[in-house]
Amino acid sequence: MKEKLILLKQKALQNLAQSQNLNELNELRIKFLGKKGELTQILRGMSELSPEERPAIGKLANEVKEDLEREFSQKILELKQQLKSKKLEEERIDVTIPSKVVLGHKHPLTLVMDEIREIFIGLGYEVVEGPEIELDYYNFEALNTPKDHPARDVQDTFYITDEILLRTQTSPVQVRTMEKRKPPLKIIAPGRVYRSDAVDATHSPMFHQVEGLTIGENITMGDLKGTLVAFAREMFGRDRKARFRPHYFPFTEPSAEMDISCIACQGEGCRICKYTGWLEILGCGMVHPNVLENVGYDPEKVNGFAFGMGIERIAMLKYGINDMRLFYENNLRFLEQF
Ligand SMILES: [Zn+2]
Repeated sequence: MKEKLILLKQKALQNLAQSQNLNELNELRIKFLGKKGELTQILRGMSELSPEERPAIGKLANEVKEDLEREFSQKILELKQQLKSKKLEEERIDVTIPSKVVLGHKHPLTLVMDEIREIFIGLGYEVVEGPEIELDYYNFEALNTPKDHPARDVQDTFYITDEILLRTQTSPVQVRTMEKRKPPLKIIAPGRVYRSDAVDATHSPMFHQVEGLTIGENITMGDLKGTLVAFAREMFGRDRKARFRPHYFPFTEPSAEMDISCIACQGEGCRICKYTGWLEILGCGMVHPNVLENVGYDPEKVNGFAFGMGIERIAMLKYGINDMRLFYENNLRFLEQF
């Protein structure tokens, strides 16, 4: 029996030394030391021993059991430690490795919008915003464009209900701001506008505008011209020439469109300016007295000028882009140029 115990210990230690796997170790432990394990089997033979032999064998059996338990526990602990450090090693992050992240940059429309904003802030203007889902009243009525007005036909409007629409212009922000504040005012209102146009090189159902408004006492067409020429020179270069052509908008009187000398041919005439030497960049005019009355201003005491421009158009001219769709297609080869 003594030999059996010693053999068992040797066998167990051998198996233990060869095993490198936690599950296997647990199985071995049960095989040798478990309730139905080999040690228990051997100890069953105790009853056949003489009373004199029993204490010595019992002592030996206990030693074997304790030794093996200790060896198993130690090995299992070692293995667990190894697994843990292996896992930590695998999950290690080297914070000193140079980053492969490519920095993003601004969309050309955002760049142009930012630049327009900065120029007008430099001229003393404040940036305001208004809702894109707008009431018919603010988009048309208050801007001197009643329901039967022919100017409504020009703008294909997305109506949500009879009275609610997607704004077709940023001009309603003028009205909302004037309703809330007293003159004088110098504001610009950039944002998205919507028209039910088919998509082509110069049209999109959604595009961007910047609206501008100056209200005060004794504001003249000269103030309008001075402001917008200063803007054009900041935006397109110091030597830019400007001209104003009479035009019609319901909410300004008189109204004009502003052209700048062609940035491609400097006025000589080319394909971009359709051989006129001029490029139209915005619409403007003196605020119509009806618009002032609609917001509770007294047209006898205050007046002002307003202007509006398409950001896409300005960006196309500035960067020489000939197709508006490029702005919305998210083509990285296009966007990365800016
Ligand atoms: Zn030209």
